[in-house]
Amino acid sequence: MFIGHFAIAFLLMYFFPTVPYWVPLIGVSFPDLLWPILILIGVEKVSIKYESPLQSDVNFLNYPYSHSLILSSLIEIGISIFVGIITKMILAVVVFLLACTSHWILDTLMHPKDLPILGFGKRDKKIGLGLWQKGMVAFTFEYIFYAIFAIVFLKNIYVVSFLILGSVFHLANSNSFFGFTKKNPFRSKRTYAIFVLFGFCAFIFFSLRIL
Ligand SMILES: [Zn+2]
Repeated sequence: MFIGHFAIAFLLMYFFPTVPYWVPLIGVSFPDLLWPILILIGVEKVSIKYESPLQSDVNFLNYPYSHSLILSSLIEIGISIFVGIITKMILAVVVFLLACTSHWILDTLMHPKDLPILGFGKRDKKIGLGLWQKGMVAFTFEYIFYAIFAIVFLKNIYVVSFLILGSVFHLANSNSFFGFTKKNPFRSKRTYAIFVLFGFCAFIFFSLRIL
């Protein structure tokens, strides 16, 4: 999931208006900011198919540090304390953690059964509802989810800008739902990881320009 994660940032901005906007924006993105870095340095594993651009054909082999419920939360608690020190706000710690956790929960809708609960040990379970298998449903659901939260929770002056921003990024990502190109435009998992990192950073950057 990409733009759908930012729906929860809008919700957190609404309920915690005193917390700086960058906290929920980076929080909801955090697992997907960490993941590309861990892929690039070889700590987490992914494989992509060169003959398919579909998100459902990306195989997330191992990503316990960035995308498990428990192990990731432990890392995120550390980062959120750092966020609390920077902002000098205990509330920012809570908002950052809620934002990070929402990422994992929303990812369980889209991913196949590859999201670890513990992130360690032999008894670990992996979950996921696999909505990505149904490209049209996943694409429509993610956009409507994003748009409803933008309309309900953002201040009126920001709604149109964020609907445009979300539409541009969601359309830019549409090949991964529908497979318009027969081949994968990403020639390696490293370029794919860099694209994910760039995508989230760009969305956060433009969001902060609007707000
Ligand atoms: Zn993710």
